[in-house]
Amino acid sequence: MALHALTIHELREMLANGQVSAVEVTRDVLDRIEKVEDKVKAYITLDPELALQQAETADKKLKDGTGGALCGIPVSVKDVLCTDGMRTTCGSRILENFVPPYDATTVVKLKQAGAVLIGKVSMDEFAMGSTSEHCAFGPPKNPWNTEYICGGSSGGSAASVAAGECIASLGTDTGGSIRQPASHCGVVGLKPTYGRVSRYGLVAFASSLDQVGPLTKDVTDCAQMMNVISGYDANDSTSVPQEAPDFRNALTEGLRGMKIGIPKEYFLEGLDPEVEKNVLKGIDLLREAGAETVEVSLPHTDYCVAVYYLIAPAEASSNLARYDGVRYGLRDKTSDALVDMYRNSRSQGFGDEVKRRIIIGTYALSSGYYDAYYKKASQVRTLITEDYRKVFERCDVLVSPVNPTPAWKLAEKIDDPMSVYLSDILTISANLAGIPGISVPCGFSGEGLPIGLQIQGAHFQEEKLLSAAFNLEQRLNISHLRPDNL
Ligand code: GLN
Repeated sequence: MALHALTIHELREMLANGQVSAVEVTRDVLDRIEKVEDKVKAYITLDPELALQQAETADKKLKDGTGGALCGIPVSVKDVLCTDGMRTTCGSRILENFVPPYDATTVVKLKQAGAVLIGKVSMDEFAMGSTSEHCAFGPPKNPWNTEYICGGSSGGSAASVAAGECIASLGTDTGGSIRQPASHCGVVGLKPTYGRVSRYGLVAFASSLDQVGPLTKDVTDCAQMMNVISGYDANDSTSVPQEAPDFRNALTEGLRGMKIGIPKEYFLEGLDPEVEKNVLKGIDLLREAGAETVEVSLPHTDYCVAVYYLIAPAEASSNLARYDGVRYGLRDKTSDALVDMYRNSRSQGFGDEVKRRIIIGTYALSSGYYDAYYKKASQVRTLITEDYRKVFERCDVLVSPVNPTPAWKLAEKIDDPMSVYLSDILTISANLAGIPGISVPCGFSGEGLPIGLQIQGAHFQEEKLLSAAFNLEQRLNISHLRPDNL
């Protein structure tokens, strides 16, 4: 298999015993990008020269034995994480030329571990969306069939991993943005517990929901990436001062003693039959691995879309107030009055979906409406969190689909935002409650599009997610499959 198609753990071994060099691996990934990027469009910013320089440094470290856990591994990073000296656009015109003066903590950690940063990958503008079509620089495509969406908002992350345009990636998840594209692109994506991974240097969308996490080719790589990025950070006031475990210890054979809850509300009417069939097959395999299953109920699931689409836009409207044409990014130079400059800069800089969220959020927070919308939504958020607390008294993890349907065709739902919002129903509760969730591939639709299975767990129980995902992956034996149409 070509180097770009390998996993972190496979390459680590080859790099350690001198079978390949970091420069060779990086060159192979860059050649792959050269070959397929025209079709996939995963990257917003690429810096091959810088990547090769980093690879040379990695080779030196490998030689003298000072290389970290990702030494010489080419990675991509969602364009919402600040990178020192490298443009960070958030998929938006308003930040088209924004070059941060510092690295996000997660980027610092990647670099300290010796990773080779290939570039910044595509996303829905400010991470608002489920398809990546709201990227101001054009949408990334699904590597399994480039006529289809790759999911969002971390679409470029998922597509770049699936297409072999990097070995692993970092994405962010506010309501499903790691898990959904992972599911649509046939890769593994983990949204960690809120507070497990630092948000410092992550450009804020909805601060009480945002979380950074890995997208990888298999569960072992996911654990490896979690080892690198997790842990307390004094620069993030919501970071939890708790030691992170070695997540690879969770990757053991067998699930004896594990109790899996199947939330009945997650097998909703309108669930695509192929999604249902593949997820049920996955559940059978988890049982074969020794887990016990039990039907459970999360009775407030029905409200999660409404609650999320009040809280997330409310926080966004406040977070995005900083883009005023004064401090960052695009400024309209034609207006004479300050207020016109604000209005024109924001009108030109933001896309339609972002404007829609700012309008909804501003309305929900305005005086006279606050109690009816934001406060009420926050109260129901507590009920959703309580649902989980009760269920996790009875079981270790919850298993369900990630997306109600496989990927759809590009542009198919572009004029129907409501139906796209509704497709978030299976992922957003985890963000509202702050719990971890993973998407792991569990099969393919008749059209050959990947389908993911979601495992959620209680706060800081990522190891249980990884353990269940690992056992499913072992039994399914599909994680080595790569799209062969590019
Ligand atoms: N699809 C959701 C939204 O549009 C979630 C996005 C995300 O997780 N960043 O807000």
